[in-house]
Amino acid sequence: MDVHIFDNSHTLRASVLAGVSLFISFIALCFSVFHFQVTGNYFLLTLDLALGSYSFYAYQLAKKNKHKKFHIHGFVYLLTFVASTSIYTQPIEHGTYLWTMLFPVFFYSLLGLNRGRIFCFAVLAIHLASIYHKVDSHESFAAFPTFINLIACYICVWIIAHIYELNRGNIENSLTYLASRDSLTGAHNRLSLTSTFHYFESNKDQDTKLCLLFVDLDYFKKVNDQYGHDAGDKVLMETTRLLCQVVGDDNLYRIGGEEFCVTLFDHPIEQAEQIGERVRSMMSHHIFAFGDKRIQITLSVGICEYSDGDKLSDLLKLADIQLYQAKENGRNQVRLSRPSKDFTEDTSTC
Ligand code: GH3
Ligand code: MG
Ligand code: MG
Repeated sequence: MDVHIFDNSHTLRASVLAGVSLFISFIALCFSVFHFQVTGNYFLLTLDLALGSYSFYAYQLAKKNKHKKFHIHGFVYLLTFVASTSIYTQPIEHGTYLWTMLFPVFFYSLLGLNRGRIFCFAVLAIHLASIYHKVDSHESFAAFPTFINLIACYICVWIIAHIYELNRGNIENSLTYLASRDSLTGAHNRLSLTSTFHYFESNKDQDTKLCLLFVDLDYFKKVNDQYGHDAGDKVLMETTRLLCQVVGDDNLYRIGGEEFCVTLFDHPIEQAEQIGERVRSMMSHHIFAFGDKRIQITLSVGICEYSDGDKLSDLLKLADIQLYQAKENGRNQVRLSRPSKDFTEDTSTC
């Protein structure tokens, strides 16, 4: 599974980086040849060669989805610097200032809303100062209309880029929420658990720990049978709220009807056991109110710890074995498995 499945911004920025950097590497090469053959400006030639080489490098990374944030930033800073230097040093009639119009879309699509806003403002100020310097010393260029047109056009593009990125961000957040959450309880769903585990696998180091708690409500079917499905739904929603209070929203997943999973990163298994015990005890003391009815229900917990090379399905299986034991032993209990890829080395507590 792609670790960026819920990160649409990453995918968009990778595509923009790949597309723009390939084009810029070609254009920068053309400008290098132009400076070599026509202007003889070796300073700009060097800058264009550096920009072309870096752009092609960034393109290669983006194409393989191996780029990091600093590659994007490096590309943005370099292109901005080269364009600004060219505007400042080249004659105004070459029209290098037209590149200014590229920047709002460029910044917002590669840097996002906050940085985009700051960079748009900074580039407008720097380029206007450069252009003013040029226009002022040029007789055939009318400074005032050139400025007004440039500013008006730049701000229009800026507004469009800002609104587009703002809406795109909101839509991305809504879609991510819908795709990663369970519609009844609002807890994270199984897809979200898979994505979290893949992220953990790709970023873990030797000291990273992960404990997994498999939580299942005891005799939940009876709640539905006795009080109705709506009461059962209410119990599930309230259980989610209670579990969130103990383990936090980020660590809780509803993975089945009345089955939840809890991820505890950087917790030793002894601490995971204590948390499991807190969850169990809290539930056994809680009374659910549904109209004038009072419902009491318990839960059982199976716990296991990640060891190198484990897959998510291995962990769920290990925790499920402990959960099964807890059910067999009479329910309302916590059982844990010591870390091992071999399922036979289990120890347990109540
Ligand atoms: P055990 O202690 O062995 O876990 O028994 P149990 O009754 O909790 O387990 P069982 O698997 O027999 O029943 C689970 C029930 O959960 C069956 C199903 O009707 C109910 N269920 C699953 N999803 C929902 C839901 O979204 N809302 C409601 N109200 N009930 C649900
Ligand atoms: Mg159950
Ligand atoms: Mg169950």
